[in-house]
Amino acid sequence: MKIGKRKVALVGCGMVGMSYAYALLNQNLCDELVLIDLDKKRAEGEAMDLNHGLAFSGGNMKIFAGGYADCGDADIVVICAGVAQKPGESRLALLQRNRAVFKSIVEPVTASGFGGLFLVATNPVDVMTRITCQLSGFAPQRVIGTGTALDTARLRYLLGEYFDVDPRSIHAYVLGEHGDSEFVPWSQALLATRPVRQLCDDWGRRSQGLDQIEEEVRTAAYKIIEAKKATYYGIGMAMARITRALLGDEHSVLTVSARLNGQYGQQDVFAGVPCVLCRDGVKQVVELALTEAEQKRFADSCQTLRESYQGLED
Ligand code: NAD
Repeated sequence: MKIGKRKVALVGCGMVGMSYAYALLNQNLCDELVLIDLDKKRAEGEAMDLNHGLAFSGGNMKIFAGGYADCGDADIVVICAGVAQKPGESRLALLQRNRAVFKSIVEPVTASGFGGLFLVATNPVDVMTRITCQLSGFAPQRVIGTGTALDTARLRYLLGEYFDVDPRSIHAYVLGEHGDSEFVPWSQALLATRPVRQLCDDWGRRSQGLDQIEEEVRTAAYKIIEAKKATYYGIGMAMARITRALLGDEHSVLTVSARLNGQYGQQDVFAGVPCVLCRDGVKQVVELALTEAEQKRFADSCQTLRESYQGLED
C-alpha cells in the first residue's frame, strides 16, 4: 500500500455500500472514493449526492462514479454488491447467487492491476471472503471480511446496557460465522479485566441475562430486517472502523473474517476472530484461551462454513 493519497474503491452502491460511503465522508477516512455499481446511473446519483455534502464535511474528498479500471491504484477495494437477505432467509442460502456476482467483480478488479486489500461485506460474508481470496489469488492476509465486527459491537453495546457501563470498557468478542453458528466465549468476556460472569454475582445481575444477550446478538439482523427490510448503518460504521485501522496502519484488534492456518486448531476456513489490522491487512490472528466447550463451538462453526464452501458448484 502506498503512503500519501488514500483511495477506496467501493463496489455495490446499495444501502450497505452507501451507509459506508457516508461514514467515510463524515469521518474523512480517505482522499479519493470511487463508486462502482452494475447500475451505473445509481452510482452517478450517489456520487452527486455525496459531493453536495462535501462543503459541510471536514475534508476535500474526491468522489466519483467509475469502473473497474479505476481500482488499479486503490488501497482498498470494498465489496458490498450482491443480493440482500430476504425476511427469514438464511445467509448461507444467498451463497450461490452471490458467487456469480463476485466472479463478475473480482476478475476485472485484479485485471486492473489492483495491488491493495480487499474488504468484503456481502453475505454470507465468511464464505464470500474465501471466494474473493480464491478468485483473486491474493495472499489471504490481504483479503478481509467484516466477519463478526458488527456482532461484537452489538454484544458490547448490550453488555454496556446490562452493566450500565460504557461499551468501550467492555472487552468481549463474538467468534465464528457471521450468522447462526456464531457464539460468545464468555470465559473471555471482560469488564475492566473482570470476567462478566463473575461480575453478575457481585453486581446483582442474573447470569441468564448473558444468555439472553447472546441470543439477541445472534438474532439482531433478523429482527431489523423484519422491521425495516435491511440492516445498513451499523455495518457501514463497522466497515468504516476497519478501513480506519487498515489505512491508518493502526495495529488495532477487531473481529474480522480472516483465513485460519492452524490457529484455534482450524485450517482452510475464513471465520470471525480477533485480528491485529495494519496497512498490510491481517498482521496477526489473536488466539484467545478458550475453554474446551468454547473450542468445540468454534470448531462446529468453522465446520458449517467449510461445508457451505465445499458445497458450491462452479
Ligand atoms: P442492496 O440491494 O441495497 O445493494 C446491493 C447493490 O449491489 C445494488 O446497488 C446492486 O445494483 C449492486 N450489484 C448487484 N450485482 C452487482 C454486480 N454484479 N456488480 C456490481 N454491483 C452489483 O443490498 P444491501 O442492503 O446494500 O446489502 C448488500 C450486502 O451486504 C448483502 O449481501 C447483505 O446481506 C450484506 N450485509 C452484510 C452485513 C455484514 O455484517 N457483513 C450486514 C448487512 C448486510
